[in-house]
Amino acid sequence: MNGSLAARLLRIIFGCYFLVTLAVTCAQLAAEYRHTELRLTAEIEAMRHTFGPGITDALWRFNGEVLGGILTGVKALPIVIGVKVEDEQGKLLRAAGTVTGADGQRLTAAGGALVPDTAPPGMFDRVFSRGFDAVHVDEAGGRHRVGRWTVYSSQRVVLRQVEYGFLLILVNSVIKTLALWFIFLFVIRRALGQPLRQMSEFVGQLNIDNIGDREFTLKARGRHELHLLTDKLNQMAGTLRRSVAENAALYKELQEMNRTLESQVAERTSELRRVASTDTLTGLHNRRKLDEVLTYETERVQRYGGELAVVLIDIDHFKLTNDTYGHPVGDRVLTAVAAILGTGARSIDSVGRWGGEEFMVVCPQTDAGGAAALAEQLRQRIAAAEFPVAGRKTCSFGVAALAPGESLALLLVRADTALYRAKQEGRNKVIQDAVN
Ligand code: GH3
Ligand code: MG
Ligand code: MG
Repeated sequence: MNGSLAARLLRIIFGCYFLVTLAVTCAQLAAEYRHTELRLTAEIEAMRHTFGPGITDALWRFNGEVLGGILTGVKALPIVIGVKVEDEQGKLLRAAGTVTGADGQRLTAAGGALVPDTAPPGMFDRVFSRGFDAVHVDEAGGRHRVGRWTVYSSQRVVLRQVEYGFLLILVNSVIKTLALWFIFLFVIRRALGQPLRQMSEFVGQLNIDNIGDREFTLKARGRHELHLLTDKLNQMAGTLRRSVAENAALYKELQEMNRTLESQVAERTSELRRVASTDTLTGLHNRRKLDEVLTYETERVQRYGGELAVVLIDIDHFKLTNDTYGHPVGDRVLTAVAAILGTGARSIDSVGRWGGEEFMVVCPQTDAGGAAALAEQLRQRIAAAEFPVAGRKTCSFGVAALAPGESLALLLVRADTALYRAKQEGRNKVIQDAVN
């Protein structure tokens, strides 16, 4: 129970209840005491009528024996601790029990004499008394004061009278407090402690995967704040579940979109790469791509060894074709020559448009002889082809292979020189550079 809400509530409730009960019980005891004290005073007052005539008569007749008997009877009453009788001069005639002297000192009657009470008075030993005048009325109606008698009682007597009542009140309070304590303990535990524990267990096992799977059912009777809290808890779980599901769907959609975008970007990138390296008129590699291939292949040979040859091709008298048939026909010749070069070259070769009506075939792992043989095949195929409108056309070929330690620039110069020589020697020729 320690640390539980029920225990805390109980402590607060019973702290207050105990203080209130204590105050009420004390007030009740004080009222009971006061009431008993008044009742005793009234009872003593009534003795005037019960014992007064007997005492007066005994005093009038000086009958000590009767007086002594009456005093013993008075003293025997449970509310009386003592009684004394004095004559009309105030001289003590007789006493029984505990009385007070003229100076207020407590005296106890023992064997006909009065002995001073030496024991210090206790807490509830305060003595109170009521004195009555003994007045004899003769036959003629004459009144004769014959003495005075005083009855003594004390707080202790009052207490003895209320003792039982006090006990009942105390037992009553203790039983009520204990009963209430257990009732509250049971009720608060059942009505508050248990439902709250159920609720915290339910909340404790919630996680992102099972939230909203099952509803929380409050095992408590009636319909109160905890039921409202339960409704709100279930509503919250439902809302969270929907949000989680929405988020998951959104995340999936996002992933899907991401995948689509990635593939579109990849497609577009490869398309751009292709466009960036393709000659628009002929569909062969463009100059940029040829430069890239040449650089790569030159570095490969320089680093790992091997062969690299290039074939530079130029259409013969192409200006004449343009001039004779027009530029569009020239373009168609360029496209047709490119097609022959593209299909005639080997798959490991790279064929591209070098610029204008010049083309190049880059032949990796090929020596000058192999490249010249390829060039010769290409020359023959072009020379044998029938071009639309333009008819027959020829090409001149310059072949060069990379010499050990040679730069790419030098290789290209030598290929160009070989081509120049092919033109010089009458065109429609393959010239292999002399160095190779
Ligand atoms: P040679 O046999 O000495 O090579 O003579 P040629 O006329 O072929 O050489 P020249 O360098 O004098 O002329 C090349 C011509 O190619 C000039 C130019 O108009 C033409 N040309 C260059 N690019 C294109 C093109 O894309 N389309 C067309 N139709 N003609 C082009
Ligand atoms: Mg040219
Ligand atoms: Mg030319």
